[in-house]
Amino acid sequence: MAFVDTLQPAFERIDLHTHSVYSDGRLHPAELAALAAERQVQLLALTDHDTLAGCDEAAHACAERRIEFIFGSELTALWRGREIHIVGLKLDPGSEPLQSHLQSVRQLRIERVRAIGARLTRAGLEGDAIISEVLGNPGTPTRLHLAMQLVARGQARDVDDAFGRWLGTGQRAAVPPKWPPIETAVTAIRAAGGLPVLAHPQRYKLSGGGLTELCRQFRDAGGEGIEVSLPGMKLKDAARAASLARRYGLAGSCASDFHAPGVPWRPLGRFAKLPEGVVPITERLGLTSPGNAATTSNARPAT
Ligand code: AMP
Ligand code: MN
Ligand code: MN
Ligand code: MN
Repeated sequence: MAFVDTLQPAFERIDLHTHSVYSDGRLHPAELAALAAERQVQLLALTDHDTLAGCDEAAHACAERRIEFIFGSELTALWRGREIHIVGLKLDPGSEPLQSHLQSVRQLRIERVRAIGARLTRAGLEGDAIISEVLGNPGTPTRLHLAMQLVARGQARDVDDAFGRWLGTGQRAAVPPKWPPIETAVTAIRAAGGLPVLAHPQRYKLSGGGLTELCRQFRDAGGEGIEVSLPGMKLKDAARAASLARRYGLAGSCASDFHAPGVPWRPLGRFAKLPEGVVPITERLGLTSPGNAATTSNARPAT
């Protein structure tokens, strides 16, 4: 498959999918901006799971470093019983429908953490203490935070072991999630003036037909883009994502899904190369000229 530089030359290095301590990432937003500057990233989105909490901090830090910043979030959703992630780009943090969506997903997460904690208590662990530690974190509570508590308390060797023993599907403390359908997530992103992007399509373990059907429904619901350039993506998966992008008129996004330094398969900052015939999502973001370090959200200036 031929790769060509189809992105605006203004943005050679972009990353439109990253995480911070406001969900399951390791870095504070300012540290993320510093690392982005080190990697010569020119355009960055912070897309923590189901929250915009770190975006103001990231926007300020990026402005200081003349990195163009986009307000984003990775929304958790369900499709045919499967967990699907939809990245919203260029979100208006003042959007009431979006904030109410985030609030309701946060409530689902809090209930899930409590239900898992209750199961841990029944297994003889200090469930209540674990719940209050996890819910005391800034930003979105995830099972990663529960896993870290289990490790800290000597109940698991490491995070993977905590999932294998306690939290993973079918394990002792597992509680299935009740995420909203993809249409709800897409609508919330649209209501905030944002662009919905289907995250890491190769990770859903769907058949060719299943992924095609997901993309069709996603597009019909108002989907705008699909991640087609991810680090370490197999050529076969990249070709499939690119062909779905062309078939459904979805723009291509470049994303690392960065969570922490030292994870070599998810490095921050991507050279913006997209497969031939795929429209770059940057063309649909309505960006200002590079070097302005303008904060790219649809937010009205604070008064
Ligand atoms: P949640 O969104 O609450 O279901 O939490 C899922 C998060 O747990 C993921 O985003 C990862 O950060 C983390 N995680 C780490 N190891 C695993 C694993 N083996 N299985 C699932 N999630 C994991
Ligand atoms: Mn994550
Ligand atoms: Mn994801
Ligand atoms: Mn992610």
